[in-house]
Amino acid sequence: MAKKLYIPGPTQVSPDMLAAMAQPMIGHRTKEYAALHKDVVEHLRWLLNTRERVFLSTSSSFGIMEGAVRNLVGKRCVNFANGAFSKKWHDVTLRCGKEADLVEVEWGKPITPELVDKALATGKYDAMTLIHNETSTGVMSPVAEIAEVMQRYPDVSFILDTVSSMSAVPLDLDALKTDVCIAGVQKAFALPAGLAICAVSERALAKAETIPGRGYYFDFVEFAKSDEKNNTPSTPCISQIFALHQQLLKMASEGLEKRYQRHREMAEATRNWALSRGFTLFPEPGSYSMTLTCVRNDDRTDLEALKKLAGERGYAIDNGYGKIKNKTFRIAHMGDYTLKDMQELFDLLDELLPAVRS
Ligand SMILES: *Cc1c(COP(=O)(O)O)cnc(C)c1O
Repeated sequence: MAKKLYIPGPTQVSPDMLAAMAQPMIGHRTKEYAALHKDVVEHLRWLLNTRERVFLSTSSSFGIMEGAVRNLVGKRCVNFANGAFSKKWHDVTLRCGKEADLVEVEWGKPITPELVDKALATGKYDAMTLIHNETSTGVMSPVAEIAEVMQRYPDVSFILDTVSSMSAVPLDLDALKTDVCIAGVQKAFALPAGLAICAVSERALAKAETIPGRGYYFDFVEFAKSDEKNNTPSTPCISQIFALHQQLLKMASEGLEKRYQRHREMAEATRNWALSRGFTLFPEPGSYSMTLTCVRNDDRTDLEALKKLAGERGYAIDNGYGKIKNKTFRIAHMGDYTLKDMQELFDLLDELLPAVRS
């Protein structure tokens, strides 16, 4: 039996999106595909408030996260980390054969503008990676303030992962001036995994041309060439692009302000539920994610047992990630969900908790 998903990715996919994916296949070197591609890209530019290029990568997010490093690290990269995904990105950078340093803060804390400034002031780096919303800890870092710091370092490529925040919170790329901004569609876009989105600045494209060893599959220069024809270098996951198109039209009809508001309300309701049940939140106050809530286990709750019971009832819930597995649990509140879906989960947890909490 398929479970209703409350895990922070993949998130629940609505029937209308599944139906969009079931459309008959089209060839990717056709006018029909080019029109679809163009409309998807135009909607993404609207969503992100940018006129820069937007590429569609047939991969999960880490594909293009690796690609960004291969395209833009010439001298040395600094990877800022405050959780499992951001730390993994450092490992990925090294595995690409790049020189890189890890600047890590305690899990649960955000990356601050001061920390970024201090690292970049050394002059050692020509690229940095930052995760806006660290999904392993439920921490959102202050990206607007960090972007301001980045303006003082025009020679450092600003590579931003918004994998679990894009489309759930406002992201104004025109103001943030990122060089690369990445998302996968299985988080707030609420689509099946396998498609990644990446906005790339003209400045980054020009730099990529000078960087050796970009490979082929994630080469931004190849993507840009295909983009001229509203296409992709290799065969894209057309079914998911059908669904992304459908999802973007849905976002336009809901309205972005309403969509952001819905996410804020779900986040607030989830935090309130956890606090009112005697739990505390894992992130440092003020850095709470809008798309998932990471709750600290109070050591009275058997999270494995809770997950099992919820599973038997048809719900997939999370019991923490990486080194904070079972020490925390995360509730996702993003994508197509509404307060009603969250209430359904709270009711379930209220029913199950007494049996697993001492
Ligand atoms: C899920 C996630 C990733 C990894 O994405 P994949 O699509 O599994 O490659 C990277 N960064 C963040 C912030 C994520 O939430």
